[in-house]
This record gives sequence, structure tokens and C-alpha cells, in this order.
Amino acid sequence: MLTAPGLCWLCRMPLRLSHWGICSVCTRSLKNRMTCCPQCGLPAFSFTLPCGRCLQKPPPWCELVAVEDYVQPLSGLIHKLKFSHQSQLAQPLSRLILLAVLRAKRTRALPKVDLIINVPLHSRRHWRRGYNQSDLLCRPLARWLRCAYYPHALKRVHATAIQHQLSARLRKRNLKNAFHLELPVKGRHIAIVDDVVTTGSTVAELSRLLLRSGAASVQVWCLCRTL
Ligand SMILES: [Zn+2]
Ligand SMILES: [Zn+2]
Repeated sequence: MLTAPGLCWLCRMPLRLSHWGICSVCTRSLKNRMTCCPQCGLPAFSFTLPCGRCLQKPPPWCELVAVEDYVQPLSGLIHKLKFSHQSQLAQPLSRLILLAVLRAKRTRALPKVDLIINVPLHSRRHWRRGYNQSDLLCRPLARWLRCAYYPHALKRVHATAIQHQLSARLRKRNLKNAFHLELPVKGRHIAIVDDVVTTGSTVAELSRLLLRSGAASVQVWCLCRTL
């Protein structure tokens, strides 16, 4: 589906500010996530305290901010961004991440981020798609939040098999040494931005790499968090 400029991507009503892409009514309707753990972003009893899973085995990042579960209509928009070459959706979707981050800041103590980092695609997949959706989401976020952003801060060194087709153990092995950091990050407060976080094994591997390299803190910001 193509959208005419100036119409909401979801309800097709005219927008007051056309670059928002998604109207305020539809944006509000996306905010009905149930209570989620601030660290892993999965359903929990508190949105300020880490859940039992995180207390036992914390992920390497300190906070996860997600707009929604992987459900329609957001999942449909992400699919369009990734597979239907609708890259003009990136800014409206980045704005949803921005709103979720600002909301999270009001309710819990998120460290102030000074560097935003994308999840790199392997050059072959990047070439085939023509762009990296995570990069497209990072650019407006960095501008709005006045953070540094280096699109090539991380490099995928070898093509990894598609993660969701592998078991948890194979996922971990598949990712080992898959990335290379091209930027000094000592003392930086970093947010990794991705479209969908499922098992979290990719962002966990990136977080470990950033922390090993001296990053002060790592958060994960995404559109959808699901298992
Ligand atoms: Zn709408
Ligand atoms: Zn948790």
C-alpha cells in the first residue's frame, strides 16, 4: 500500500503535521503495552523494577525501551519498511521510538545517551535491500536527541545465518565474533537501535562488545519487543 503524503499511514486521515506520518489518535492506540520489565522489556509485574528473570540472569544492557509487542498494525509497518522498500516510513517509526524513550524517561531513571548505534547488516544483505532499516531509524533519533551517531560504528564481519531459524545455542555461536567495533566508546552512554528484538541475542552480543570496549552504559531501543 502506498500512502499519499499528508495522510496517516494507519487510518488514512489527513495529518496536521504531515512529516509525523502517523496521527495522534493512532499513536495513542499503540501505547497499550502491558506492564513490562524495564530491563528485558518482557511482560512483568513492575515497570520500574527488574523482573525475576533479569534478577537471576541479567541481560548485558541496562534498560530496554520498546514501543509495542510485535503485533499489528506496527508489525505491518515494520514489514513494509524492511521488505517493501517503503523507507519513507523510517521517520514516523523513529518518532514512535522517541515518544517511548521520552515516556520511559518520565517514569524511570534512564541514563542520558550521548551516542546512538545501529545494528549492522552484512554488506551482502545491505546491498540486496539497498538500506539498513536500523540505520534509517537512528538518523532522526540522533538529530532529535542531539546525540552522536556514526552509521559505521559497528561492522558485521561475517555473514551470519538468519537468527530466527536457529536454536538459542546455535544463535549464540552464530554471533560469536560476528561484529567489529570501529569507534572508541570509552565512557560513552550508548543506545543500540533496532526494529524488532526477539530473543535479544544480537543486541546482547553488541552490548557485550560495547561494554568490553569501555562503554559506560548500554540501552536498547526498539519498535517491537517479543519472544
Ligand atoms: Zn491515524
Ligand atoms: Zn526482565
